[in-house]
Amino acid sequence: MNSLWIDSIENKNNFKKLEKDISSDVCIIGTGTFGLTCGYYLVKHGYNVTILEKEHEIASKTTGHTTAKITSQHNLIYKYLIDSLGKVQAKKYLYANQEAIENIAGIVKDEKIDCDFERTDSYVYTKDMDELEKIKLENEAVNSLEFDSKFVTETPLPFEVLGAIKFSNQAQFNPLKYAYGLADKITKNSGEIYTDTIVQNIEKEGDYFITYTENNKVKSKYVILASHYPFIDRLGYYFLKMYQSTSYVIAVDTHGKTFDGMYINSEIPTFSYRFVNYKGKKLLIVGGADHKTGSKIDLSNAYKILEDEVRKYFPDCTVLYKWNTEDCISLDKIPYIGEFSNLMPNMYIGTGFNKWGMTSSNVAANIIVDKILGKENEYEDVFKSTRLHPIKNNEELGNMVKEVTNSLVINRFKISENDLTRLENDTGHVLEYDGQKIGVYKDKDGKIFAINPVCTHLGCLLSWNNLDKTWDCPCHGSRFDYKGHQLYNPAIKDLDVIEIE
Ligand SMILES: Cc1cc2nc3c(=O)[nH]c(=O)nc-3n(C[C@H](O)[C@H](O)[C@H](O)COP(=O)(O)OP(=O)(O)OC[C@H]3O[C@@H](n4cnc5c(N)ncnc54)[C@H](O)[C@@H]3O)c2cc1C
Repeated sequence: MNSLWIDSIENKNNFKKLEKDISSDVCIIGTGTFGLTCGYYLVKHGYNVTILEKEHEIASKTTGHTTAKITSQHNLIYKYLIDSLGKVQAKKYLYANQEAIENIAGIVKDEKIDCDFERTDSYVYTKDMDELEKIKLENEAVNSLEFDSKFVTETPLPFEVLGAIKFSNQAQFNPLKYAYGLADKITKNSGEIYTDTIVQNIEKEGDYFITYTENNKVKSKYVILASHYPFIDRLGYYFLKMYQSTSYVIAVDTHGKTFDGMYINSEIPTFSYRFVNYKGKKLLIVGGADHKTGSKIDLSNAYKILEDEVRKYFPDCTVLYKWNTEDCISLDKIPYIGEFSNLMPNMYIGTGFNKWGMTSSNVAANIIVDKILGKENEYEDVFKSTRLHPIKNNEELGNMVKEVTNSLVINRFKISENDLTRLENDTGHVLEYDGQKIGVYKDKDGKIFAINPVCTHLGCLLSWNNLDKTWDCPCHGSRFDYKGHQLYNPAIKDLDVIEIE
């Protein structure tokens, strides 16, 4: 199902496919909030900018499915940052994200972008006694960074909490209206945006980069990889330091009962709340039920977990929207912003936003634009993309490098009648035939769709996701529909389709 944000935009497609070779100062790959924010700032500085987007509509991937809280309160992070990096770096993280809120507010005001931007307070709360001490320590940590957060025991929520940290004067908006507003300013300032244009490779040629799409190329001095999970592995090695996590969202009509503020709890399962003005009504957006993308777990209850929770407080509510999406999670909880690799000057990246990409993408755009302008940015060292901290999380690391199997080169297969008959309708499985694996989905009418269940990114064995009818990669979070079409990065190629006799 579409997100409410996507449904809120009329006249979505104003962009065309790239059908000629062109040159530009900067080539940006991806029209999510990060790519568009970079494009916006760069055209304002007089750069000639080209933005390439593989989807038909801009900002239709993670940015089009977020919950769009604009806050520097990234759940419980500041005590962790102080403990791992020290106060100076933790303060920079906090102030960079606080500044991002003001930057976004400034863009909305200056450019008159009608995106339902509103100021509100943000809370991390707990109902779990075991978490209370963590909440108190986090609040002390934030205060020690000279930021005036408050520990409170009462909030506007319709249920009791044991404790919460309040960050005042944060914000929320409609991320897609904001994205279309940025795109409008970019094109009005001579920037070019092309959709239905998938980037397949980037090569260095002398002082320039050549960005290759299916049939054309863009020559540019600078490249910004704003593709969410990078689809290029060599030199950057992001596949060794990032995975993807899926979260589920519902939008419910609470029939006039509302509360102010934006909320997330610190315990698991996670629940995130905010209201949105939508077509004359206030709808409650509830997010959570996170899991590592591609995990072999039962997903049939993912939306129900959210719905059951919200019905405790709003028993008569009506669920109007359900959607899910994924974000990149860095192993040390800090985004990767800056040079793609030390060996690729002038090629930049912003990724690993850890589900806090509304402010992080603005931080990233400012750091990268400053690099292009040759200016120092006081926050860049915290987020340095080429940092070489030891990866402490061995379990995650192991997960990401195991499960690699050899790619199969197959076109035609004979599977035993028995195997196919045993497969229930509307389910998918990886079947073994002659020692080789085949991913088979049998639709509601019994029609069979078979693919090579090996991810086209780095060859991991895919898992079947029966909720969305997709093949998901447990290593880096690429996703494909049941016909094998690529949906989410880092893979950019479709799966091989297998014909079954
Ligand atoms: C459920 C959920 C809720 C969230 N809620 C919040 C929140 O409340 N607040 C917050 O701060 N953050 C939140 N986040 C995180 C935030 O939404 C993301 O970090 C942010 O949207 C990522 O933006 P992006 O521009 O990096 O990626 P995207 O929006 O995914 O944009 C990347 C673009 O690149 C394009 N692309 C990829 N590969 C290619 C290619 N080869 N060629 C051409 N184009 C390509 C894609 O099609 C896509 O349009 C949430 C995340 C999730 C999953």
